[in-house]
Amino acid sequence: MVDTAPSTNSACSIKPGYLNNFCMTGANTSILDRWSDNQYLVTGVILSLFVWIVSYNFVSRDEEQRFQEAADQAQQIAVFFERHVVGIFQYGDSYLKLVRREYVRNHDVGDIENLMAEVPLNKSIASHITIIDEFGTPLLVSGYEIRPGTTARDRDYFKFQQNASGDQLLVSRLHKGRNSGKLIVSLVRRFAKPNGEFGGVIFLALEAVHITEFFNTMNIGPQSSATLVGTDKYIRARSHWGSQEPGQNISESVIWQNLAQSAVGIYLQTSVVDDVTRYYAYREVPGYPLIAAIGLSVEDFQQATEVSKLNHYSIAFLATLLIVVTTLFFSRQRQLLTQIEAKNHELQSQNDELERFNYTVSHDLKAPLVTIKGFLGLLKRDIDAGDQQAIARDAGQIGDAADRMAQLLDELLELSRIGRQMNAAENLDLAELVSEAVERVSIQLEERRVELRIAAGMPAVRGDPGRLLEVFQNLIDNAVKFMGEQESPCIEIGAERDDGQVRCCVRDNGIGIAADYLDRIFDLFDRLDARVEGTGVGLALVKRIVDVHGGRTWVESRGEGFGSTFYFTLPAADS
Ligand code: ADP
Repeated sequence: MVDTAPSTNSACSIKPGYLNNFCMTGANTSILDRWSDNQYLVTGVILSLFVWIVSYNFVSRDEEQRFQEAADQAQQIAVFFERHVVGIFQYGDSYLKLVRREYVRNHDVGDIENLMAEVPLNKSIASHITIIDEFGTPLLVSGYEIRPGTTARDRDYFKFQQNASGDQLLVSRLHKGRNSGKLIVSLVRRFAKPNGEFGGVIFLALEAVHITEFFNTMNIGPQSSATLVGTDKYIRARSHWGSQEPGQNISESVIWQNLAQSAVGIYLQTSVVDDVTRYYAYREVPGYPLIAAIGLSVEDFQQATEVSKLNHYSIAFLATLLIVVTTLFFSRQRQLLTQIEAKNHELQSQNDELERFNYTVSHDLKAPLVTIKGFLGLLKRDIDAGDQQAIARDAGQIGDAADRMAQLLDELLELSRIGRQMNAAENLDLAELVSEAVERVSIQLEERRVELRIAAGMPAVRGDPGRLLEVFQNLIDNAVKFMGEQESPCIEIGAERDDGQVRCCVRDNGIGIAADYLDRIFDLFDRLDARVEGTGVGLALVKRIVDVHGGRTWVESRGEGFGSTFYFTLPAADS
């Protein structure tokens, strides 16, 4: 039968309002409309990555900027520290020289006491003045009683000045004053007797704590440090952080290598004094054998950047959350649209099929009606003529046509039930299913003496047992029906796994099918040979059942006289 069904309307014109919204013509759709749900997800991931890369860059730049600021700050404080030290030492040395000049005039400590009453020592810088004679015996310790028996003979500064050739300023190591009990750094100068011989030393005791106390009031991190160290590698004063022995030797520090390169600089080091890692800005103190260093703790510095890091990453996190939610929303939206489009398409093909079906059914059902009408005319004429034989023939033809119409209607009803009336899918043993189908057509098989070959080890499938039985029964029945004059009729039934599905086949060596008809024979009422009994519904039924199972049906034949092989796929059984 040639399909002359009228051409169908376009999907958009026949669908009611809501679905029309999703009928896309391509010309007026945006890129977003054409994106798949996966493209949305990939875009989401890319956007999120972008957000994190930008945030990471911000954080790195911020850290770099903060480090630069901290380094600048450390260098500025080091400049201040250096000037502060120069100020203290200049003051101390001037005072020292003043006292020495006064003392060498008369070698009378009373003059010094008078001088110090007139020009008092700045106590926020220096602790006291001490005069020691050539034997190491203290003659004056301003502001303190001299403890009997004390001597400076064993002190390095004394020995140094005793052996010095000329007038030199010595900055002593940090030590505890024997009279004051304070940690002091002394500025020591010698004085000569009138005959030019060594007459003793005068020193001014600077309280170490005053040298760095400015730093303790600065709020630049609890683990930061200010250190004044001599070129002899011994610490003279240090702001307090952690436990420390005063006046350590820091010859292990990398500051000496840096100093060899430049008098001013910055470097990173874990302190040899307290194990804190710091950025150190250092400067040589001009005119004195001293180096001033300001250390900024990396940990303090990182804590300061932590807040900004947290802010940036919180914003990135919120942005990512927003992207994820938006992406999921659009992706879901797309999935729904895809589903609606698929449904729309399915409805459209069902609509086309229905129209074809209407046309075919009305056309094929008319045929018996035409027969009945024709023979009714003849019957009337034969009754008038009283021709009993003709009357019986007419009645027989009318009966046959009515039977045929009834059979057509029954089979159509059966076809319409598929999909609506299905049993629950279950795992099925194909061998059992095939043997039951064979049982049902056993009479035809025996009559035609057909040899049956059923493959061993067929895989299990999943589906409606009743409907799949109909499929095999129809195909085996057809194979026998269209065996033709074949002398050794043979039907082979087999099944094998194919890409997650099971592909079944029913092969015969019957009359075969011409290439032109291979596509058409699954259509309703399509029959190639009107002489062979049948309605042309069987293969339509087979195709519909396989379709409902999500499978595909097709036939292969090398042409008339070469037999036919019917294939169909079914879901494999759940493992
Ligand atoms: P029916 O068997 O009732 O005629 P079917 O839908 O089962 O209807 O078959 C449609 C037509 O397909 C048949 O009339 C026949 O021409 C052709 N056909 C079906 N099975 C075979 C077969 N095994 N070998 C050759 N032709 C076949």
